[in-house]
Amino acid sequence: MSDTDGVLVIGACQAGIQLACSLREYGYPDPITVVGAERHAPYQRPPLSKAVLHGETTPGALALRSEAFYADHGIALALGERITRVDRSTGVAHALSGRAFAFGRLALAVGARPRRLPVPGADLGGVLYLRDADDALALKHALANAGHVVVIGGGFIGLEVAASARRLGHRVTVALLEDRLLGRAVGEATSAFFHGAHTRRGVQVHLGVQPVQFYGDDRGNVRGVELSDGRHITADLVVVGIGAVPRTELAEQLGLDISNGIVVDAHGVTSDGTTVAAGDCVACPPPVDLPDLPARIRFESVNTAIEQAKVAAATIAGRPVPYRVVPWFWSDQFNLKLQVAGLSSGHDRYVLRGDPEMEKFAVLYYAGERLIAGDFVNRPADFLAVKAALAGGRTISPAAATDVAVPLKKLVLT
Ligand SMILES: Cc1cc2nc3c(=O)[nH]c(=O)nc-3n(C[C@H](O)[C@H](O)[C@H](O)COP(=O)(O)OP(=O)(O)OC[C@H]3O[C@@H](n4cnc5c(N)ncnc54)[C@H](O)[C@@H]3O)c2cc1C
Repeated sequence: MSDTDGVLVIGACQAGIQLACSLREYGYPDPITVVGAERHAPYQRPPLSKAVLHGETTPGALALRSEAFYADHGIALALGERITRVDRSTGVAHALSGRAFAFGRLALAVGARPRRLPVPGADLGGVLYLRDADDALALKHALANAGHVVVIGGGFIGLEVAASARRLGHRVTVALLEDRLLGRAVGEATSAFFHGAHTRRGVQVHLGVQPVQFYGDDRGNVRGVELSDGRHITADLVVVGIGAVPRTELAEQLGLDISNGIVVDAHGVTSDGTTVAAGDCVACPPPVDLPDLPARIRFESVNTAIEQAKVAAATIAGRPVPYRVVPWFWSDQFNLKLQVAGLSSGHDRYVLRGDPEMEKFAVLYYAGERLIAGDFVNRPADFLAVKAALAGGRTISPAAATDVAVPLKKLVLT
């Protein structure tokens, strides 16, 4: 193993590709190889649950970069290659196909896989998950023949699929264990809004229930779901969106610390002191100073994957910068653009700006006088103002924020 063997990035999606690109931006001179298990050219995942299902685009049109870009920047892509074993002593990673990849430095950007539902009948035809382009194509195909779509889970993926299926004219039911939609990501007022918005558009929502079993027909295709409250719902397509589990098997093999993700420090370095990691697979120190946050956080968002990848690349390139950013993400459901900035979990009060009835409002979260986060529905300018305020450690007077006639960016206190 020698540094001149360069960097091997395992995982060729949002984090892995950003890591490779940032290495070149930071002037890293040695070879860079990105190896990915999927056969598709590295692509954006967010449209999979929206535009791909609506038929407005195809996975082939979602490439992150062109082939020419990779060639011009000396980034070698090895696609359709799943790494199954990494030998750090020899500096070689082995793929299922038998191919071997030498490396001087290793970066893990292996992402996450959908959490599986361990109930009888979960292996019936028509019980689907959505993580990658092939899943999206299978789901699109299944939607073409479905009448009643049942979505298990009330997080982003579940609700985006529900919205897409409804837009396509299907009967849609969402069933979730939690007592509110989007419970892990937004505050109660925003959850209540999305419950109302989905219901108004004809989605049936059942809270506080989970599937006990799926039952099927003679051909092994799903025909219904039995829920924990005893209710039976017919279904000819079930989409399970109950969260994602970080892919940690290579990290385990390497003896790296794992705690709901591959543990990294603020510079993206794992517990062996040299391997870096970024994206959905990573558990990192919180990137903001707020009371009562856990020691490590795992985010699943495009922005986090990009920012963590930049940090890991800077570490390898010898220009270390810590991961200090305001986390943010978005979700598109029907004509509703939700944007979330910051972490609201430690808030002690919130203010509402605008009118949820008009489907255009913001919720700003405060810890004492300090602005710590916001949820925004169809208010992109407010989102940008709050994101900038949080990044600059500034606040907005809660009393003034309720006046929608005044742009939020004018209310940021210095
Ligand atoms: C349907 C969907 C919609 C989404 N919508 C939004 C949205 O609207 N907004 C938002 O902010 N975020 C959204 N996200 C989340 C966002 O896409 C992810 O957070 C982001 O893709 C994470 O990037 P990543 O590179 O860390 O992981 P991944 O995207 O999971 O990529 C990891 C890659 O590594 C590969 N891999 C894993 N193990 C190996 C191995 N052993 N050998 C080789 N390759 C391997 C995998 O095949 C995969 O291609 C969405 C996600 C999904 C699935």
